[in-house]
Amino acid sequence: MLATFPTTAPEENNLIQCDADRGFISWLSQAGGSVAITTYQAGKLALVGWNGQQITMLLRQFSKPMGLAVNGSRLALATHHEVCLLANAPALAYEFLEDQPGRYDALYLPRMTYFTGDLNIHDLEFGREGLWVVNTRFSCLSALRVATLLKKQKGKCTHCGMYFREEDVLEIDHITPKSMEGKDEYKNLQILHRHCHDEKTTEDGSVVKYT
Ligand SMILES: [Zn+2]
Repeated sequence: MLATFPTTAPEENNLIQCDADRGFISWLSQAGGSVAITTYQAGKLALVGWNGQQITMLLRQFSKPMGLAVNGSRLALATHHEVCLLANAPALAYEFLEDQPGRYDALYLPRMTYFTGDLNIHDLEFGREGLWVVNTRFSCLSALRVATLLKKQKGKCTHCGMYFREEDVLEIDHITPKSMEGKDEYKNLQILHRHCHDEKTTEDGSVVKYT
């Protein structure tokens, strides 16, 4: 089978060609789902599915899409400077196309964006306490801890109770200091303003005073 699809940027007059062999067609027709593929060269997220008769391909444009992870109804996509978290809204999918109700059974809507900077995230995965990313730029694994903690704290500093503002300097604090056997795990972490963090560390025993 050979099918040709226009991209979502018709002004560039580019075409993406899709060629599927019989084995893949047979498998996809019975898989009961779609295959999501990213290609950062073309800047596309491709959803390859089955409409009951033939293979379909839906393309969406992102800036340098790379790693992709699925967890239940959530989908995380690493792009050039961000990790986008999308969630399925099946109730809205049915009527997404007014003239073709029922054409789609899933509709992924953006729910959250983590601004990571350019980390070259080739892969990522949902962990027990949030997203882990393969941070190729710094050759390490990274957890998106700040974003997870901000969400847990509803955007407020747990020391002063004020909402964080864009210009605030934030720091991650160990609730029980490491010097007092506090562990480096989520339930022992919180985000504070830098000045609140300074205040807290002078009171919580993590700073030893010599007189
Ligand atoms: Zn504060």
